Amino acid sequence: MRTRKLGETGLLVSEIGFGTIPILSGDVHVLPDTYSPDPETAISILRDAYEMGCTLYDTAIEEEYGDAEKKLGMFVSRVPREKIVIADKARKYTGEEMRKAVFGSCENLGTRPDIYFVHQADCKNADRVFSPGGALDALCSLKREGVIRFVGIASHYYDVLARAADDPRVDVLQASGNILECGILNRLRDEHVMQKKGFILNKVLAAGLLTQSFSPAELIGGILNYPVSSALIGIGTPEQASAAMGPEHTACDIPWETVFEILGRHYALIACDRCQRCVCSRGHEIHSVFRYFNYRQLGKTEWAEENLRRYIDPLSRHCRTCTDRTCEASCPRRLPVPSLVERIRAETEGASSESGRTLRRTGQR
Ligand code: SF4
Ligand code: SF4
Repeated sequence: MRTRKLGETGLLVSEIGFGTIPILSGDVHVLPDTYSPDPETAISILRDAYEMGCTLYDTAIEEEYGDAEKKLGMFVSRVPREKIVIADKARKYTGEEMRKAVFGSCENLGTRPDIYFVHQADCKNADRVFSPGGALDALCSLKREGVIRFVGIASHYYDVLARAADDPRVDVLQASGNILECGILNRLRDEHVMQKKGFILNKVLAAGLLTQSFSPAELIGGILNYPVSSALIGIGTPEQASAAMGPEHTACDIPWETVFEILGRHYALIACDRCQRCVCSRGHEIHSVFRYFNYRQLGKTEWAEENLRRYIDPLSRHCRTCTDRTCEASCPRRLPVPSLVERIRAETEGASSESGRTLRRTGQR
């Protein structure tokens, strides 16, 4: 396994990292189809990855990732601690909440996390996170106290990541992207955001949705083409560990148009690469709605429809009467946003999981 520099932290991390969602058990919603191995099985999968050269392990607090922290802690107690980099995170946005979360993580892990992220920082909570006394300040204090080693911001949002990249308190960024949702990655790379800090990428397999159409070599190689420090792969079985960590993946450039064309043979997707350039005068997050729809088409039906139900009606109402259509003007792909919104509304109206499944993939590449 090759290693890459984690920004200016002085750490080297394996270019493939271990995402712990699939090894969790517990009443959490991150992955409905969780594999839920028992602790000893989980430890053995973590060890498989370790033996293949994985040195970066990413987890989150108990209320988000169930018992993943505890399983990771059990594993870490059985290998030399200095060989492992632990990235942990919490959706806590005030300083007080974040401090509490970090101490809870230390207890579950039985060791200090190396990097601690504010998880799911977004445009609504960013001011709380970044302001004096917020979660970021709390992590900096914990770093000075030696409770954690490095401070991170994890976000799905270009604007938040760009803000974090310019903030001297932040050591590492964590973002989401893959060969389909690469618009944000292209921006972060081309605008030199990615290169300013350590950069960890998750959702490389799009929650496993892209693995029916592309090989691990294509999915991982396509990401290693970017200047990321490490690509996290969710691993829940020994086979998945071998596929992700076994071969030395070669960086390759798969044009988005090719990815979209291949997926288009089996799925009716919206041609959005999630660059997040679209601006809606009414404040709607069009890129998120299109993402939910595409994930629905790719098979994550229940999760996607639950999210679409929250957004689609007000969005559709506003689009019908909108005259400025700033979204279309700001979209480099010139997507006809209002008509796509109508399509989503029509296809998901009264949708049940069963009806969603009829739109799923009909064949494999
Ligand atoms: S058409 Fe719809 S998405 Fe576009 S700017 Fe108007 S309200 Fe927003
Ligand atoms: S709708 Fe257009 S601008 Fe918005 S994220 Fe998709 S491709 Fe980018």
